[in-house]
Amino acid sequence: MTLDRSTIWPYDERGEPQEFFYQRYGHPAGVEVERALGVLDGGHALLFASGMGATTALALALLGPGASIAVGAGAYFGTARGLRTFERWGVTVVEFDQKGAPPADADVVWLEVPSNPLLEVPNFEAAAAHRGTVVVDSTVATPLHVRPLERGADYVLHSATKYLSGHDDILLGGVVCKREEDAAALRTLRGTLGIVAAPDPCWLLLRSLKTLRVRQERQTATARELARRLEEHASVRVVRYPGYSGLLSFDVADGDAARRVEVATRKIRNATSLGGVESNMESRHRWEGDRIPSGLLRLSVGLEDVEELWSDLAAALELA
Ligand SMILES: *Cc1c(COP(=O)(O)O)cnc(C)c1O
Repeated sequence: MTLDRSTIWPYDERGEPQEFFYQRYGHPAGVEVERALGVLDGGHALLFASGMGATTALALALLGPGASIAVGAGAYFGTARGLRTFERWGVTVVEFDQKGAPPADADVVWLEVPSNPLLEVPNFEAAAAHRGTVVVDSTVATPLHVRPLERGADYVLHSATKYLSGHDDILLGGVVCKREEDAAALRTLRGTLGIVAAPDPCWLLLRSLKTLRVRQERQTATARELARRLEEHASVRVVRYPGYSGLLSFDVADGDAARRVEVATRKIRNATSLGGVESNMESRHRWEGDRIPSGLLRLSVGLEDVEELWSDLAAALELA
């Protein structure tokens, strides 16, 4: 489709607004990419300015004074940090082990599949049996490997900045709602408050979704092989990989060793984020502190040749 950057569209001959009239309430590229994402996850999708923008919108939609939200411990560190900003408005945030049952009194249960960077898979059955509203951040799994709406979730959240976009060139978030009426309410809230996704990144996401499947197949195959080889490496203490998608993490002896390894790779960039066609690796301790082991390295596997990646990694691990 051609990209339409208009912020306004004329009313019809009777002076009535058409489907598009003011960009904050909707625009063609946004509607098109929401249709595509909705099909992938089996629900009704809405795009936001970033993954955290999507989290903010869901928090505003689902929480009020006195509400409590239980977040899977080890989920993306920005999620709990972001949700805690709502404590000022009387919201309670607790963390729990998402491999077990959520706290009984939680109004909202927030899972992540698999968690970033500990790569743990949540207990969907226990969350589905819980009375609360269930949100699943499925950024790392992507809809190709896990469809949370079919496993009891009410909402799926994506940082579309990662695998869905795949090229490290757009910042976007998505929410896919199980129910049409929830999507309508969230759409009204989004248009009213303005946490919207602009046409350009939505148009680029449409481009990216065309290659999502081939990228995921290749990234999964390469990550599996690297995880297997890392398991056998003498300097690696533990490898975490759920068996799908392109993200893995592993531990070397300590924080200093992790720093030596991350700056020593040549092909793999020492950079944050994940999900791109080029591989990235970083020590997560710099961002997350003692939530995670100090020697943890997070590797986002791109589309490069597996042997080239392994020789780069193996050379860097000599310094561990
Ligand atoms: C990056 C990330 C987010 C936040 O998304 P942004 O697009 O950076 O705002 C949320 N959840 C997970 C799992 C992420 O990796």
